[in-house]
Order: sequence, then C-alpha cells, then structure tokens
Amino acid sequence: MPMKFRISSEYGVLEEIRGGREHHGVDLAMPRGTELHSIMSGTVERVVDHGADNIGRGVILRTDTGDLHVYGHMDSVAVHAGQRVDPGDLLGISGNTGHSSGPHLHFGLIQDGSFADPTALVPDLQRYSGDIAGPSILGIKGPAGWVADKVVDHAAEHVVHGAREHIVHWLVEAGAVLVDLSYGIGLLSCTVLIILGALGMRDAYRWSGLVFGIYSLIRLLGVGFGR
Ligand SMILES: [Zn+2]
Repeated sequence: MPMKFRISSEYGVLEEIRGGREHHGVDLAMPRGTELHSIMSGTVERVVDHGADNIGRGVILRTDTGDLHVYGHMDSVAVHAGQRVDPGDLLGISGNTGHSSGPHLHFGLIQDGSFADPTALVPDLQRYSGDIAGPSILGIKGPAGWVADKVVDHAAEHVVHGAREHIVHWLVEAGAVLVDLSYGIGLLSCTVLIILGALGMRDAYRWSGLVFGIYSLIRLLGVGFGR
C-alpha cells in the first residue's frame, strides 16, 4: 500500500531550493488543510511566523522526553506557547507558508540541541494526522478535491513565480496522485475479478492476472514518483 503521506524530501539531502544546505527534517507531501496532531505529550515551546521565509508559520513542541518537534509551513496554528498537549491534540492546519514549493509539512527533530533524523517518527505522524479540515478550495471532497486543490495551488504559484521548478514539481505531484489512484483502482479490480472467479465466472481469474500485471507495472514505474 502507498503511504498516507509521501516523503517528498528526506532528512540530510542537499537541495538547491535551500541554497545547497542540508535538509534539517523530513517533508511530507499533503494537501493544504490537513489537520496536524501532536504525536507525543509535551509543552508548546514556541509558535513562530517567519512570513515567506524558512518554515513560515510553525510550532515547536518540547516533548516530555526533552526533544523538540518542529512543524513547519502551516496555514494556521491552534496552540499557544506554554500550552500542554497530549498525543492526538490538534496543533494546527498544514499549508504552504514560508520558503516552500508546494503544500507539505516540514517536520524536524532536535535532540540535545542538534538536528536529528526524524524519519522513525513518520509512521506516528501519518497515524495521528490526516483529517482534512473543511471543504477543499473548490468544495470538492475526496481524491478529486485533492487533485483540484493541487492544480489551483500550483497555478497560483506559477502566476507569482513563473519558475520552471514549480511546473516540474507540479508534474511530479500530479503523477504521484495518478499513481496513487491507479493503485486503488488496480487492487479493487483484482479483488472483484477474483471474487467473480470464485463464484464460477471462468475468465475472471485470467483477467485478474492481466489487471494485476498492469497494476504491478504501474507500481514499478510509480517508484520514480515516490522518491
Ligand atoms: Zn523541509
């Protein structure tokens, strides 16, 4: 199964968009408006707003184990400094604020004053976050709304920046969405055909083999989009 939120940029990679500096966290591609929940109990250390720079609007949480969790590029923040939070408590809504080329969550981990690799916490982030707050930009629900939001978001960015990297980024995002959708459709068709086969429809097994073959091929090609 594809992951709920694709890691769009891993920890430690050197990227042009950051002026060749190391990436101090992981980026999870997610539609704007996704609810972000704390994955541990702790106290809100700071709420930041860097405007169009850095992580934009963000929350820095001191966990009860003494680490810092950094959430960046948020549209809105639902907590204030000094507030106690438990696992699952709402911290805010994801967005595309700060220095960002598309809607995503930047998540950072600071241990003993230095950045550490937060990749091991990604499954917790996927588990606790993910409810989409409110209707999508165009009021369309479900995957179609997600695709529509991406088109609107990225079209708006092209007008502002007109940069080639955004168009490439959009194509990669759109490809990833199509691949994700095809996974679901492929698996569903296979299941239906296998059930039909079990019910006695003689050709169903053969068709399910064909569909599974196509599905596997798309999946294999889709690894390129998954990065
Ligand atoms: Zn990041």
